[in-house]
Amino acid sequence: MNITVVGSGYVGLVTGACIAEMGNTVYCVDVDKAKIDNLKQGILPIYEPGLEEIVTENHQSGRLLFTTSLSEAVEQSEVFFIAVGTPPGEDGSADLRYVLEVAKQIGDTLTAPAIVVNKSTVPVGTADLVRAAITERLEARGVDIEFSVVSNPEFLKEGAAVNDFMHPDRIVIGADNEHARQVMSALYAPFIRNRPRTMFMGIRDAEMTKYAANAMLATKISFMNEIASLCERLDVDVENVRLGIGSDERIGYHFIYAGCGYGGSCFPKDVKALINIAHQNDFEPKLLQAVESRNDQQKHSLFNKLSTHFNGDLSGRTFAVWGLAFKPGTDDMREAPSVVLINSLINAGAKVRAFDPVARETARREFPESWFTDGRLQIVEGQYEAAIDADALCLVTEWKPFRRPDFRALKRLLNTPLIIDGRNQYDREQVKREGFSYYGIGRQPVQ
Ligand code: NAD
Repeated sequence: MNITVVGSGYVGLVTGACIAEMGNTVYCVDVDKAKIDNLKQGILPIYEPGLEEIVTENHQSGRLLFTTSLSEAVEQSEVFFIAVGTPPGEDGSADLRYVLEVAKQIGDTLTAPAIVVNKSTVPVGTADLVRAAITERLEARGVDIEFSVVSNPEFLKEGAAVNDFMHPDRIVIGADNEHARQVMSALYAPFIRNRPRTMFMGIRDAEMTKYAANAMLATKISFMNEIASLCERLDVDVENVRLGIGSDERIGYHFIYAGCGYGGSCFPKDVKALINIAHQNDFEPKLLQAVESRNDQQKHSLFNKLSTHFNGDLSGRTFAVWGLAFKPGTDDMREAPSVVLINSLINAGAKVRAFDPVARETARREFPESWFTDGRLQIVEGQYEAAIDADALCLVTEWKPFRRPDFRALKRLLNTPLIIDGRNQYDREQVKREGFSYYGIGRQPVQ
């Protein structure tokens, strides 16, 4: 098949590369010229395990093409994926301007029957808006070209995106005609040869499924963080509670870790968007509002623990931060808890020395340049370098190399033997034996 994927970010580039890997010819289109120029030279805009290899191989074999021009791709393609951003607007609603812009461009350039597949996360009813935008532009051109709009939300996880796309748990396809269902089935068949798992449903059902999935995952995290806050007040260790409840099959162990809050480009924005959708439909989403507000508070938990430990005065101190990405396996820092912590520390007059295995470049774009030039914020090249003369080590992202650190070396390097563990990675008894003060989430501190 010949396919065009519009938007070459986390979702679009992974989609394009994986579909090309299965022998299709794929045009990846993006408005960002620098991104496209770099991709043509094999330089990827994001870090994602395994992505560079398949992008390079498929580009070299001529199956994966990069362009800024949709019209260059359009003649060749029978399926168009829309995979552009849907960031939150000021009121929390999903901003559809990029999606609708792409729809208009498709209407302006389409020359043959096509299927337009929306992969971006969008509110229920967006397929109708996409269809209307394309129709309007086709009519303005005085042409009548058949097309279908399909909703095919993406469920990949950053940090495991290639693997998730290649071996999906499920493929959700919202379509309103048999031809579109058949084309989508054929496209995805190579990914599910041994485990057929395509779910066909109505377009609106598919649009809602994505929001419901992310809202459910965010709810699990906020629920566990609420229990953790109670545990702290009741001399209970939330880690034992987690093990205790996860053993119940109806609950399960996945996604019930207490921590310093969820981040990323999806959960915060999608919970916000769903709250907005509820309000638009005269419904008070009490649970979702609580999920969001619990998470906002949770992102401040590490700073609050530090502040309490140092009697409210952090000025002049230096803190080591391990982990900047919103989760391990990615360089994405959108809505990351590390951003909230670092901003709070610097606003409180402290200095920060931070390390992340892959998000160091992203971090340089995330914070004001002046913080780097005047030394308030340093992004260092090694995890132990971050600890030198610091007054505490804050573990924010549970990258694997942080899980079993050399505690003796850490104790030697730190000014104050204090660990703030935002992901409950460390054994309280062990850090106590090693001579550290320790604060986790939902467990008693070691002092
Ligand atoms: P992203 O910001 O990484 O990438 C979006 C890309 O679209 C950018 O490169 C941007 O330049 C490009 N773009 C914007 N307008 C364009 C236009 N008119 N023409 C061509 N390109 C254009 O975003 P993302 O993280 O890949 O997310 C894309 C969508 O997928 C969002 O709706 C998101 O909610 C959803 N989603 C994301 C993930 C994830 O883990 N990141 C997972 C599932 C779904």
